[in-house]
This record gives sequence, structure tokens and C-alpha cells, in this order.
Amino acid sequence: MAPTIVIVGAGVSGLTSALLLSKSIKGCDLTIVAKHMPGDYDIEYASPWAGANFEPRNKDMEVEGQLGLFDLEPWFKDLFDDYRELNKDELLPGTDSGCGFTSVCINTAIYLPWLLGQCRKAGVVFKRGVLKNIKEAKTLSHTGRPADIIINTTGLGARKLGGVEDTALAPIRAQIVLVRNELPTMLSVSGTEDEPADLIYTMQRAAGGGTILGGTYDMNNWESAPDPNIALRIMKRVVEARPDIANGKGVAGLDVIRHGVGLRPYRHGGVRIEDEKLDESTWIVHNYGHAGWGYQGSYGCAERVVELVDKIRAQAKSKL
Ligand code: FAD
Repeated sequence: MAPTIVIVGAGVSGLTSALLLSKSIKGCDLTIVAKHMPGDYDIEYASPWAGANFEPRNKDMEVEGQLGLFDLEPWFKDLFDDYRELNKDELLPGTDSGCGFTSVCINTAIYLPWLLGQCRKAGVVFKRGVLKNIKEAKTLSHTGRPADIIINTTGLGARKLGGVEDTALAPIRAQIVLVRNELPTMLSVSGTEDEPADLIYTMQRAAGGGTILGGTYDMNNWESAPDPNIALRIMKRVVEARPDIANGKGVAGLDVIRHGVGLRPYRHGGVRIEDEKLDESTWIVHNYGHAGWGYQGSYGCAERVVELVDKIRAQAKSKL
């Protein structure tokens, strides 16, 4: 028998978990229930705001309120054929060291609907819903049958969600500016001379998606409205670092699509991917708290969700 599964959350974590589960378990009934879906922009929904690039980090790089983007001899240098340390004359003024490699950037406005489409093709059913308690998911399968397994991918929402209420979660506020200007080379600089929470990064999204200019890395700040002073600092730093983005015309040469704020779902102690028994016949698999790396870790984390679901099924013997 195949299990009835309800996934709560339709960010990159929920969609990727659903896709891999649909491929792994033949005949499994999957329902995604979420307050926000691909196409929405909301402070409670991190996924649309992400850059989103692949930029591995060392374990201790994303720590309480600080993001160190560069380390000498990082573990990931062998992942890239063209990884190299930058020469002194290539460094931006005020920086001590740096590295360069070829990476990818995902256009989230295209990728999230693509994931949704792949899930629908595999038979996953999507429903809007706002849960007060995770146990409500038990009654939300499109089949009408009680869920055997609930996958909790509610991101920062797991802090408030009854039955979870994980106080280890904290927002790391990220303010960005999306512009029409192009800058094919991605740039990431940890720290600035301005404010402790400020960073510099640029990511050009594929297929006309514009270029994300960042940003901030502001722990415990829940403010959803873009701050015009921060926006100006972000734009000034980018045009100083890379004048070519605005053809040398400075901030006036930037063509803004939108200002935005997203909250990275940080979790003290790291991401939570584990199983838990809700009652005699229902299990929960948690997959939340991915901070600033939810896209680059999405497949690895969803693979772990599949492993945990397999473990639960093995324990339940032939019942699931
Ligand atoms: P979310 O996308 O927040 O989704 C949570 C889902 O749960 C939503 O559907 C929500 O509606 C639902 N939900 C929550 N509570 C409830 C409830 N009670 N009832 C029903 N539904 C509920 N990552 C990278 O890998 N690379 C990057 O370059 C990168 N850049 C970033 C830049 C910015 C500006 C930001 C903000 C983040 C960035 N990230 C990046 C991080 C990445 O965006 C997140 O780690 C990832 O999106 C988290 O996805 P998620 O699915 O876990 O959570």
C-alpha cells in the first residue's frame, strides 16, 4: 500500500519534497496545502525573494547574525573546475581576499511555477489553507482519507504553528532591489564600511528576470517594508563596485523593477530534518529552517525527507 501524504508549505522546500516523493513512491497520494503559493509575494514566503544562486558556505560561515562569504581553502573549492583565488589587483577596494568560480543563478519567478507544474504532472494536488496546528493536516488530503504522513515545510511559519512552535527559528531580514540592468558576473562581498548588517551582492536572473542587488543580513528584524535609506545604500555600493551595470551613470542609471524584503528562515542549531510521531497512525517529517541556502540545499534536504518517509514505511511494515 502507498501512504497518504500531506505537505504543508509550497516554498522551494515543500515543492521539492513533493516532487521527489512523487518520483520515489508509486501510487502515493500527495496533497500540498499552503497559505502562499508560487506567484505570491509576501513577507511570510521566503522563496520568491531569493537570488537565488549556488554559493556553498563553510559550516561556521552562516552564524548568529553574520555571514562570512569567503574563507581561504574552503571545502567546496574542488566542486568547481575553474575555482581560483583572486589576484590582489582584481580585489575591490577595502577587501583583503576573494575567489572566483562559475556558478548558477535560478530565476525564482520561473522556477517555482515550474516545480509546481512538475508536481501537478506527477499527480500532486494543491490546496490553499492556513493551519493553526500541524495536526490539522491530518484531515486535509484531497482523497478524504486521513494522512499517514505529514511533511512540515513551513519555513519561518513553524515558529508560530501550533504543535511545532519552534522558538529556535529567527528571521534574517534581506532587503533587495530588482533592476532591469544587466551584470552577467555575480558579485558577493561580505561586510561593508556602512552598517554591520549590510552586504554587497548581485545576481542576474536568467531569461529576462532582471538583476537582484543586495543586500542586508539582519538577524531578528521582522520589518516587511523596504527602507529607502537601505535601498539607496545598496544601489550606491553596487554602482561603485561595478559602474558598468549602469553604463557609468551611477544610481540614476539603474532601472528599478521593484524593491523587496524577504526573511531568511534561520534556525539556531541548524536546519530541522527529522521524523516525529504525532499519534498512533500518523507521523510528521520536518524540513524547515534553511536560512540563506534553501535553494542550493533543496534537493539534498528533500532526499533526506524521502529517506525518512522510507524509514517510517519500513517501521509500519506493510500498512503504508
Ligand atoms: P518558504 O519559502 O518561506 O515557504 C513556506 C511555506 O509554508 C509557504 O508556502 C507558506 O505559505 C507556508 N506556511 C507557513 N506557515 C503556514 C501555515 N500555518 N499554514 C499553511 N501554510 C503555511 N537561498 C539559496 O539557496 N540561494 C540564494 O541565493 C538565496 N538568496 C536569498 C535571498 C533572499 C533575499 C532571501 C530572502 C532568501 C534567500 N535564500 C537563498 C534563502 C531561500 O530563499 C530560503 O532558504 C528558502 O526559500 C526557504 O524555503 P521554504 O520552502 O523552506 O520556506
